Amino acid sequence: MFLRVDKLQIELPAPKRQDPNAGAALQELLGGKYGEMSTLGNYLFQSFNFRSKSKLKPFYHLVAAITAEELGHVELVSNGVAMLNNGPDVPGQDAKSGGDVSGGPFEKMQDIRSAASFFSHGGGAVPVNSNSMSWNVDMVTTTGNVVFDLLHNFHLECGARLHKLRVYESLSSSDATGRAVCGYLLVRGSVHAHAYALALKKLTGVAIEQMLPTPNIPLANIPECQPYLAEGSHRRLYTFSTGDYEAMRGVWEGELALPGDPPGDLVVVEGMPDGGKIHDLAGQPSAFSPDYAPEEMMEIAQRLTRAAHQGAGSLS
Ligand code: MN
Ligand code: MN
Repeated sequence: MFLRVDKLQIELPAPKRQDPNAGAALQELLGGKYGEMSTLGNYLFQSFNFRSKSKLKPFYHLVAAITAEELGHVELVSNGVAMLNNGPDVPGQDAKSGGDVSGGPFEKMQDIRSAASFFSHGGGAVPVNSNSMSWNVDMVTTTGNVVFDLLHNFHLECGARLHKLRVYESLSSSDATGRAVCGYLLVRGSVHAHAYALALKKLTGVAIEQMLPTPNIPLANIPECQPYLAEGSHRRLYTFSTGDYEAMRGVWEGELALPGDPPGDLVVVEGMPDGGKIHDLAGQPSAFSPDYAPEEMMEIAQRLTRAAHQGAGSLS
């Protein structure tokens, strides 16, 4: 089962300008071949399909716990895409109706790379790549063979690192939002590549972690990775659970950070990262989101929220 927490794994800085083409670039990290939908889909179904779970706990627990983190990565990239497509919020922009639509208020949206991201999705994210091609189930590998699946996962995390580095290089140095997404995910992806390498080493004796990092550029070269390296995120795996998935300690603990990263012991943390606030993306009535004239809808929601709080109060 899954528990949902209304937070992001990190708080993203607000965008300084609207940049739907940067949003499209970030889509590669969501619905690209090595994007978060692919890592999620692989680990999700591998963990469901895992045979001899009770006898292979360290490996089953590793794949199962990382699954939950990947779902949070899908959420993080999706928020980044929507923030870049939206641009800075205009205070009070969703407090009044959409005004005159006859002047072509969104004429420029014809020319953005992923025009469907506005026309169909109102600037929101969907599981497509940077050219709006659908993510699909062909990107999921679940063979039932533990070594082969772990090897696929190692390849996937190295591919994800390649994606993230290239997307990062394509973003303007003033794009704090997009670059924060890349910086955090580069650190976490490196952890996952390292974890799958260690799992393969324990199973086969092959020191596959010596291939890391692939591509061979240290995280120290990426400024947006530094806060996460400083706090030790590169040494941590989370169980994303209270009490379950603890046996993955057998794979991760007792090993050291990769050479080139800040040194220290690898640790498993019960639970999840503290996380950060989800950016409260303001509505855009002229694009009919959440509607052209949202005042009544908001009044109804306010009334229902008040009633819900009163109801909760009467229970305590
Ligand atoms: Mn990920
Ligand atoms: Mn990953």
